[in-house]
Amino acid sequence: MPRHVLYILHSFVIAMITAGAGSSTLAQTSPAEDALVKKARAIHEKVITLDTHIDFLPGDLVGERNYTQRLETQFNLPNMIDGGLDALFFSIYVGQTREAQNPDAFKPAGYERAYKLAVEKFDAVHRFTREIAPDKIELALNAADVRRINARGKKVALIGVENGYPIGEDIARVKEFYDRGARYLSLTHNGHNQLADSQTGERDGWKWNGLSPLGKQVIAELNRLGIMVDVAHASKESMMQTAALSKAPIIASHSAARALCDVSRNMDDEQLLALKKTGGVIQVFAYSSSVKTTRPDSSDRAAALAAARKEHNLPEPTGPGQRARFQSALTKLSADNRAQYEKKLAEIDKQHPGDPPANLKEFVDHIDYAVRLIGIDHVGISSDFDGGGGVIGWNDASETFNVTLELVRRGYTKEQIEKLWGGNLLRVMDEVQRIATELQK
Ligand SMILES: [Zn+2]
Repeated sequence: MPRHVLYILHSFVIAMITAGAGSSTLAQTSPAEDALVKKARAIHEKVITLDTHIDFLPGDLVGERNYTQRLETQFNLPNMIDGGLDALFFSIYVGQTREAQNPDAFKPAGYERAYKLAVEKFDAVHRFTREIAPDKIELALNAADVRRINARGKKVALIGVENGYPIGEDIARVKEFYDRGARYLSLTHNGHNQLADSQTGERDGWKWNGLSPLGKQVIAELNRLGIMVDVAHASKESMMQTAALSKAPIIASHSAARALCDVSRNMDDEQLLALKKTGGVIQVFAYSSSVKTTRPDSSDRAAALAAARKEHNLPEPTGPGQRARFQSALTKLSADNRAQYEKKLAEIDKQHPGDPPANLKEFVDHIDYAVRLIGIDHVGISSDFDGGGGVIGWNDASETFNVTLELVRRGYTKEQIEKLWGGNLLRVMDEVQRIATELQK
């Protein structure tokens, strides 16, 4: 439900500005603050800033209106340039369908549908980087590429696959995805698949009690090829088994600390320590409901939001498979309708205020927590933009500098910020590649 969240964030920001009546909301300038901003700017320009998880619709890459323009998306090239974001992983996301919805979900026909969706997204990234914006952004296949492309002043695209479901039961597809540029693969999304249990099992019950036999084979193949194994969305048991099994460091491409926000999507201390032991990295993500436990909406607020969606013919954004439907319905609204909908959301925020979504400071608290627990070498940053991510203060790629500023405010040094903003992830990529070369001997 990406744009829904985006719009809620916007309306909160609008409400806060109105309430502040233009006085306290303006940044207090002082020589000390100016010096801090200047220092942060210098660091932000120097280090490679890499975001490991951004969702997209193929049409936003290859359509007539595409990411070379400032679309109504959180990520696009103009926002990336404004925010000083250097590199990103485009997420080849395929939602998990269940047997209850599609009896053939885990039969050849179901796998084939998922595979086709994945291929469409791979193709879109290749067309975008090769044909649509080759002067601005280039695809990287390893850490050395990232450094080289960045040094030449171009933006860097990488590819991660969110959900192993489209592999089906054909292990040869792991190599095919590698050849298509995939450099990480999340074993699951929300809902169990043929490879592993998802974190959603804490609510729904378990299928495999961790990894399936095929899941274990796939991890060996990922290690052999040099694709990072990603445990975001996996269950704790799947994740712990992966940490024990993988011959290379593992990553959580977009996750947060369960000690600070107790949701099954996050990683508890035992998991973070196991991830560290592999030499891996958690890319802490700016996903409001994983950063902060918010009070549920009052019934008045929930009813008002539902009525606003109904008035604009928008589907309910919750439930499996609804995310994409909601997103495409929003895209189809006329500019007038969208403005009206946004205005309505702002009114609802005033009349029936909800608990505000997470903000930048609460997000960076998760980074601090992880750094204290597992050390500066095992923590990184991701947004989950256009996939539900965004917090007040880092709500689109144009606001990326704010993250660096907050890190500087908390006393992180340039060397530490360099590690957090991509240095650690690139180290893991190098290591995964080195181990793959060894395994192939
Ligand atoms: Zn995700």
